[in-house]
Amino acid sequence: MLFEKLAEAYEKMEATAARLEITDIMSGIFKPASPEEAKKIVYLTQGTVAPSHAGIEVGMGEKFVERAIALSTGYSYKQVEAEYKKSGDLGKVAEKFVSERRQGSLSREDLSVKKVFDVLSRIAIAGGAGSQDAKIKSLAELLNSASPSEAKFIVRFPLAKMRLGIGDATIVDSLSFARRGSKEDSAVLARAYNMCNDLGLVAENYLTDEKSIAKFKPRVFSPIRPSLAERLPTGEEIIEKLGKCSVEAKYDGLRLQVHKSGEKVEIFSRKQEKMTHMFPEIVAGVRKQVKAKEAILEGEALAFNSATGEFFPFQLTMQRKRKYGVKEMAEKYPLHLFVFEALFADGEDLTTIPYVKRRQRLGKIIAPGERLSLADSIVTDKPAELEKYFEESIEKGLEGVIAKDLNAPYVAGARQFAWIKLKRSYRGELSDTVDLVIVGYYLGRGMRTEFGFGGVLCAVRDQDEGRLKTVAKIGSGFSEEEMTEMKGLLDKIKVKEKPKRLDSMLTPDVWVEPKYIITVAADEITRSPMHTCGKKGDAPGYALRFPRMTGNVRSDKGVDDATTVEEIIAMHGMQKKVEMVEGEGS
Ligand code: ATP
Repeated sequence: MLFEKLAEAYEKMEATAARLEITDIMSGIFKPASPEEAKKIVYLTQGTVAPSHAGIEVGMGEKFVERAIALSTGYSYKQVEAEYKKSGDLGKVAEKFVSERRQGSLSREDLSVKKVFDVLSRIAIAGGAGSQDAKIKSLAELLNSASPSEAKFIVRFPLAKMRLGIGDATIVDSLSFARRGSKEDSAVLARAYNMCNDLGLVAENYLTDEKSIAKFKPRVFSPIRPSLAERLPTGEEIIEKLGKCSVEAKYDGLRLQVHKSGEKVEIFSRKQEKMTHMFPEIVAGVRKQVKAKEAILEGEALAFNSATGEFFPFQLTMQRKRKYGVKEMAEKYPLHLFVFEALFADGEDLTTIPYVKRRQRLGKIIAPGERLSLADSIVTDKPAELEKYFEESIEKGLEGVIAKDLNAPYVAGARQFAWIKLKRSYRGELSDTVDLVIVGYYLGRGMRTEFGFGGVLCAVRDQDEGRLKTVAKIGSGFSEEEMTEMKGLLDKIKVKEKPKRLDSMLTPDVWVEPKYIITVAADEITRSPMHTCGKKGDAPGYALRFPRMTGNVRSDKGVDDATTVEEIIAMHGMQKKVEMVEGEGS
């Protein structure tokens, strides 16, 4: 397929915000594509050349991209830089200079999707001395053959700013439309994607054999997207919903997915990033204690004193997420993995069998030892027993409990009532924190002028519409250091206009590309005419009251992990029930 076709589709997608239209355009691209091409098209549309867990990014700094544009078009670096200052979009700069080329290219050829993909892959894996020059030359080589519109999209790949406003769910729908003319296969495609975190691979398999996709199994070393918990405010409601259930301790550490095949072990984060090197003691523990040749397990790792049974503070566990000093930290504060799931063992897909069976299997897979143990749990159908276990867990320094449906399969990548979390709710505080995407920031006023930072505008995800909706303006919870750091981070991703996926009635001083997630506590959820979260017609939306940031930017979460509009509305409903119960008691 010619890259021209894909660029044309991207142009059309850029001009619309309507999801159906975008689905239609994208399915038109998948229809004639070969399986191998479809794989590449998916990665390119995601702005990458490989699944995220491969850790390969096309990434080039703006300065180097500017050099490539200059090299290819015959303009000086200064001219390219000046134009970028004016327009704020290097894609548009490339489009302009390519259309007004000063030097003709000797080596013009029609660009195919394969060619563009191959050169971008070369750029992604180039490393070592002289690699920047090689990358600039490779990018310029593509630009030599590009039309103005192709050039616009080609330079956006290494800048990771595709601006297409297309999410993974829309790519999934487009694949189904390409083969079925409807969303008929979207659910099985989404399940397969959740099983391997590789939408390119799913597209390739689907276009090779549509039927096989329903039987897609987990694969060792391809991370599975995590199952997530819903919330309910009391033990009574949990038992009402699940009946007899397993109640597990909710450990507050790092969620790890462990993959093992023979002696080879890899560890992935909640966001499917490879983090094996950060946890040497757990890798050794898995080799010793996991009695399956091949396995995929999930657990929460935290610093724990097994002699005293004492849990160390969360911050101490988090310190492990760094490049240096891992060995020393692993010796001083070794982490312990509380394993709560077995998803795959010796060729068998365990995600489809009921929780009780998975848990039995898990018990057999893990041999006793000092590094790994099963997450503590009880099985009960009595609210009082559940509440007692919850109180005991809190006393031990845990975050709360997670109740699990005994009959539910493991639902990858979804938040469902198969798991229900119960956390400590203080009077006057929401019972749970929420994870919000930063979409803009305000310049400081008064005392904060010197930091140039006065707070952030944040959004949640609307899953049905595939869009982001604002829910809070947050000005507190930041230390002076954090303000400076936050501004530095956000300045790197500022954009001139409101992000395409966002619906907002507020305009911050600076818009940023939706990328960073922060965890936010609040007093309650209120109805607000100023925010677009859950806003329908003239009725008000939902907003957080007295929101404050807790902790740092969540490096373990991405935009797809942000809290959803549905969750905010559900929490608003729960809050009313709790108010009623509290009101009755006083
Ligand atoms: P939170 O910030 O509350 O941890 P989350 O969005 O990361 O929320 P949820 O699905 O809402 O994830 O809550 C489940 C989380 O709790 C898991 O991601 C995992 O990290 C942690 N956890 C701790 N103990 C357990 C357990 N026994 N079973 C499942 N998850 C557990």
